[in-house]
Amino acid sequence: MSVVAIVGRPNVGKSTLFNRILGTRRAIVEDFPGVTRDRNYARITRYGTPFVLIDTGGFEPASEDHLLAQMREQSRLAIEEADVILFVVDARQGLTPSDEDVAAMLRRSEKPVLYVVNKVDGFSQEAAAGEFFALGGDRLFSVSAEHGRGMDDLIEALLEALPASAKNDALAEDETRLAVIGRPNVGKSSLINRMIGAERLVANPTAGTTRDSIDTPFAYNKKRYVLIDTAGIRRKGRVQEKLEKYSVIQSLKAMERAHVVLVVLDAEEGVTDQDLTVAGYALERGRAVILVVNKWDLVEKDQGTMKKFTENVRRAFKFLPFAPIVFVSALSGQRVSKIMGEVERVSVEFNRQVPTSALNKVLEEAVISHAPPMVQGKRLKFYYMTQTGVRPPSFVVFGNHAAGVHFSYERYLANKLREAFGFNGCPIRLTFRNRG
Ligand code: GDP
Ligand code: GDP
Repeated sequence: MSVVAIVGRPNVGKSTLFNRILGTRRAIVEDFPGVTRDRNYARITRYGTPFVLIDTGGFEPASEDHLLAQMREQSRLAIEEADVILFVVDARQGLTPSDEDVAAMLRRSEKPVLYVVNKVDGFSQEAAAGEFFALGGDRLFSVSAEHGRGMDDLIEALLEALPASAKNDALAEDETRLAVIGRPNVGKSSLINRMIGAERLVANPTAGTTRDSIDTPFAYNKKRYVLIDTAGIRRKGRVQEKLEKYSVIQSLKAMERAHVVLVVLDAEEGVTDQDLTVAGYALERGRAVILVVNKWDLVEKDQGTMKKFTENVRRAFKFLPFAPIVFVSALSGQRVSKIMGEVERVSVEFNRQVPTSALNKVLEEAVISHAPPMVQGKRLKFYYMTQTGVRPPSFVVFGNHAAGVHFSYERYLANKLREAFGFNGCPIRLTFRNRG
């Protein structure tokens, strides 16, 4: 999955541009109560090409760092992690020294940079925009993020600049791809080494389709798996790489290509907002999720500890009630072997195909035990349902008034499907359509 990052000084219009590119097609996750929404990144598809758009302004450290230091940090982040960079400047403000400073950094990178001159609302700014050629770009994109001006050209150029692999990220379908995500220092690398060390490697690790991820194929119970490892996990060293914001972008990238996402938590530190954000994103993308509580060796335990911890995790991740929780210690190796068993079970569920007849039996019983509500004086009716896909399991329910189906009834039906068929660890997609 390609990443497009928006950089630039505060107030040049980065978030306005972000929202403009998203338009109305932003995937809304409102269907999942409790999901932390993050306005700073989004997955977008334009003309069949998917990419992740990131407003780096949103990853600014909360501290009162100097402006320039912040911008350098953002740009470094974008240079390291993004495939295409949108560098935004402000036509009303004109060229500033910090624009030049950032431009110099971007030029030294080998990443494609699109120079976006924003706030070109009318002719007078259009004429003034030319001064930004001094930043070194061959082409300037004059836009008004606020009014939507110039967006078609910009998006077209952006899609052209994406790496070729983005356009056909063909993935083998007979393998299950795992991503291990979590904040720095929760023990991801230790866990991966334990897991992979124990299983048979079927091939040497190879560069993934994105240049900065490593795919490690291995076999477990005669089935093929691929561990997607973003470079940052294995490449240890520089202190900056431990900054929290890195893990968000890397997590997004790894998750895009994964089927099953292992969200690793630190037993000592408990659940953080960032854990919820990345897990919410995994859910939004329809990935299967397993919650792995690592460093269990550090927790002082009595009989009720695990139960209590489980309750806390469940409460925090209330939008993932179906995700299995595993308690492990990567350090001692305790219960690490349980993880692959869980992955195996979850991926069976993720690929489960239920015959239409069995689905309709469940639908019929569900409607009898809890009648759908009246909408605009008419009783909602469901005629039949069918499964339209796997990974994640997706269903279409045909009825008389699709638009009138409330989320609570949708959740009720989803729960009935889980009761009947399992789908442990998997999100379920339900759509409603009018029978035409
Ligand atoms: P950020 O800090 O770079 O994310 O900037 P924002 O997106 O928050 O925008 C900063 C200010 O510039 C806001 O008041 C926006 O309404 C305004 N702005 C953004 N785009 C345009 C534009 O195309 N024209 C004008 N005139 N104002 C804009
Ligand atoms: P990453 O940044 O998420 O990849 O985390 P690492 O695998 O580098 O681990 C960070 C630190 O936590 C290292 O010092 C590990 O030795 C330590 N660590 C990892 N797993 C465990 C565990 O299960 N128990 C304990 N006590 N320490 C652990």
